[in-house]
Amino acid sequence: VKSSGKGHYQFFSREMNLAIRRRLRLEHSLRKALEHDEFHLVFQPQVSVRQGTVIGMEALLRWRQPHGEIIPPGEFIQLAEETGLILPIDEWVLRRACAQARSWVDAGIRDFRLAVNLSGRQFHRRGLILLVGRILSEIGLEPRYLELEITEGSVMADIDRAVEVLRGLRQMGVRLAVDDFGTGYSSLSYLRRLPIHTLKVDRAFIREIATSTQDAAIVEAIIRLGHSLGLQLVAEGVEQPEQLSVLEDQGCDSVQGYLLSRPLRAADATSLLTSGRMP
Ligand code: C2E
Ligand code: CA
Ligand code: CA
Ligand code: CA
Repeated sequence: VKSSGKGHYQFFSREMNLAIRRRLRLEHSLRKALEHDEFHLVFQPQVSVRQGTVIGMEALLRWRQPHGEIIPPGEFIQLAEETGLILPIDEWVLRRACAQARSWVDAGIRDFRLAVNLSGRQFHRRGLILLVGRILSEIGLEPRYLELEITEGSVMADIDRAVEVLRGLRQMGVRLAVDDFGTGYSSLSYLRRLPIHTLKVDRAFIREIATSTQDAAIVEAIIRLGHSLGLQLVAEGVEQPEQLSVLEDQGCDSVQGYLLSRPLRAADATSLLTSGRMP
């Protein structure tokens, strides 16, 4: 931090200074992370409530620094968004995920989808549709295996443009999900404009679903609404059998969460998909 004039230093407390230095250090190592091959993906199963079968996986990014420390995405995605580093990172994730999906198809696994998170910045960048198309054809993956997850927040940032981009992606044959549904700007009327396949109910509502009648009512309303629009419903963050049982009663299609499985390394995800059932 440079002094932009006399006396400006004194506004920074020691804690702020430490926070800024930590952030700069993190930004510096984040810039190197891609070229040093420090990222990998893990895969969390999505399980059909009715059948108990694995219907797909969500790819989640992991960053292992050279000294072995694993930094969770919660600690660097936002910084990556702010610095623009998210663009090459998301592109790497998309390529890696599609390559993984291709290898599952090659192994004879046909009944799955692989969900990939797109940051708001990636979603709103020009040329996204071309980029996705190029990656799919480079890798030779049929689009229907890929599901792109876009948060409610990034859809709402520019709804008209969002609808346009989603249409283009859908035309290509890619599946589309709105992630973290119900958290932000929740204007329900916009939902019917979105050409999506899946709604993911945010963990915040699932947490108390077995103990709070209010939260249970909210989730039930989201599921009804989603179904009436022809969407598939996925609940995230399911940790307890009681939560699963409420979701089953409410007709939720599939669930994701520690109760069913933590995110898995590629090899374990592959065996699970091969067997098709939860152990
Ligand atoms: P998200 O997309 O909502 O992903 C779900 C997060 O919840 C994951 O955290 C997952 O590990 C965690 N989770 C799954 N089941 C449970 C559960 O039962 N209980 C609890 N408490 N947590 C559960 P993770 O992997 O740390 O990712 C955090 C967020 O970082 C993601 O939230 C997503 O917004 C972002 N992210 C992760 N990978 C990527 C990526 O490749 N690209 C982008 N742009 N964002 C990513
Ligand atoms: Ca997600
Ligand atoms: Ca989510
Ligand atoms: Ca989230």
